Amino acid sequence: MVTRKEKREMEKEVNYLFELLKTQNHFFKNLNKLLKEVDDPRHQSYITYDTEVLLMMVILKNACNLKSMREMTNEFNKEECIKNVGKWLGNEDLEELPHYDTINDFLSRLNPAELERIRIDMIKKLFKKRCFDSHRINGEYWGIAIDGTGIFTFDKKHCEHCLRRVYKYTDKETGEEKTKTIYMHHVLEAKLIVGNMVLSVASEFIENESEDVKKQDCELKAFYRLTARLKDTFKKLPICLIADSLYACENVFKQCKANNWNYLFRFKEDRIKSITDEFQALKNMEEEEGKKANVVKIRESEQRGEITWVNDIDYRGLGVNVFECEV
Ligand SMILES: [Zn+2]
Repeated sequence: MVTRKEKREMEKEVNYLFELLKTQNHFFKNLNKLLKEVDDPRHQSYITYDTEVLLMMVILKNACNLKSMREMTNEFNKEECIKNVGKWLGNEDLEELPHYDTINDFLSRLNPAELERIRIDMIKKLFKKRCFDSHRINGEYWGIAIDGTGIFTFDKKHCEHCLRRVYKYTDKETGEEKTKTIYMHHVLEAKLIVGNMVLSVASEFIENESEDVKKQDCELKAFYRLTARLKDTFKKLPICLIADSLYACENVFKQCKANNWNYLFRFKEDRIKSITDEFQALKNMEEEEGKKANVVKIRESEQRGEITWVNDIDYRGLGVNVFECEV
């Protein structure tokens, strides 16, 4: 048993830069080259730093868990660090690191598709190395979780593409009914689940095409765009989508079937009434007949519970399996 103190001492001995380099050389030998080949949106006559320096700074910032771009500039601007980054990128002449304003300016102009290409290349390499194979569901399917997250919220309109939500509230002073609009940006993420790690494999922004759209963009609409890209990128990958109750609907079931994917969705009882009714009816029938074929007891340390399932419930010509777990 290693005590916390001993662990801290051991960690001091670890050369993290070396470990990171080792990982890169093992899995992503061509990463520096890919960072260099990014289509540079800047005016070529004003360039001091190559794209791989700018992008590697951001990768290192995140790898070092630095929270802000300012912190990055402060922490990295040391002789030793500049030399290390230069060596890493095979650019021994590197004398300075770019200021975060330079990096932010570059990132704001960069076409996101350029980074998307690099991510896909990296994920495909990981699949090829087969290092995550033991995490496949039933030894076959890759679990990919789909979930939406808010990234920014504003009090005022931020751009043409903002999502809007109107709140009603009562003014405390005058007692008047008032409304307030907030402006938001959301992203829908597809994340590969491998053990206790998740790797983002595709992202789709949930945003309006313009300010005057009749119906706003939403998570489900973004889902179809996201999954179309996922299928296009990983054509033959056996996928099992994992998502919340919002996705338990006919079109999503059909989409999964068409893509040859499996799915594991949370199911709220009011999502599709006919499925709930049929599940309950079949479950009750089994109980009355004293059959316990589709029940498994859970006994795991302090946890006690029961899983009940009914297979192949018909829903508009599709067969769905429902299971319920009580703990
Ligand atoms: Zn906006």
